[in-house]
Amino acid sequence: MRFPRTLIEFQDQFPDDAHCWAYLRRARWPHGFECPRCGGRGGHFLANRWLEQCRSCRYQSSVTAGTVFHGTRVSLRVWFLGVFFLARHKKGISALQFQKDTGLGSYQTAWTLLHKLRSGLSALPAPLLAGHIEADETYIGGYRKGWNGRGAGKVGVAIAVEHRGHTAGFVRLAVIPRATSAVLTSFVHGSIVPEAATVHTDAWAAYKALSKMGIDHRPRKGGHGRHVEDGLPWAHTVFGNLKTWLRGAYHGVSPKHLQRYLNEFQFRFNERWNEEDLFSPVLHAAITAEPFPYRRLTAEPTG
Ligand SMILES: [Zn+2]
Repeated sequence: MRFPRTLIEFQDQFPDDAHCWAYLRRARWPHGFECPRCGGRGGHFLANRWLEQCRSCRYQSSVTAGTVFHGTRVSLRVWFLGVFFLARHKKGISALQFQKDTGLGSYQTAWTLLHKLRSGLSALPAPLLAGHIEADETYIGGYRKGWNGRGAGKVGVAIAVEHRGHTAGFVRLAVIPRATSAVLTSFVHGSIVPEAATVHTDAWAAYKALSKMGIDHRPRKGGHGRHVEDGLPWAHTVFGNLKTWLRGAYHGVSPKHLQRYLNEFQFRFNERWNEEDLFSPVLHAAITAEPFPYRRLTAEPTG
């Protein structure tokens, strides 16, 4: 399936909702309609109602049912433009800018749409890390000076990133409720292929349990330099980029929604060599993700 590389191509390929609908239909059912009720193949398209009817059981289904587009009142073309921007804009897009670019009636609608697409990105499995891996943690947000580790709106974020010498490989990021040994080591363990990984951390005792889990663990011994043994250069670089990105594009984010921004950052980072074809993975993520009602978006707790 062709995917748009430029905004001009986007407009040519998706001049109206019908073209988006057809694309969505092909993306969702590449081998023809599959009935969500009986699993039967083949359907009739009821053009006047934009519904697909199963040939076997006559169940009627919308192509948007069970996706993040479910029950939307926003034009599919605007959704697709959101997919395009999320896929194309390296620095992301703010809800305010998206509202201005698309003429959406409210900021809240723009904000919700982008978050629903981000929630779709969470459904994409990030690669498990192997080789030399740097693991570390940091705090994001918070405005109170002299913060002592509790309260004040700071959120802990854990990182595991592949160290491939002069470049970083894949990355995993997660909001952590507490920076305890149990939380950090289980994050690291779940992010890697344990038998194929050498994990580098600072000398903090919280990471000591990694070797008890059978992981080749190399705590930092001290000294400064550019080698992985001398520090955690890629973990620090990625954290720096993440903080700059969050400040620049979003002017800080609420702790409640941070994990979704981490997902977006992680996705774009891990796909950074694959820039040409991000439209289809972002769209497929939106199709395969569960519907994400607005009330869940706002009710979701941190962590
Ligand atoms: Zn059926």
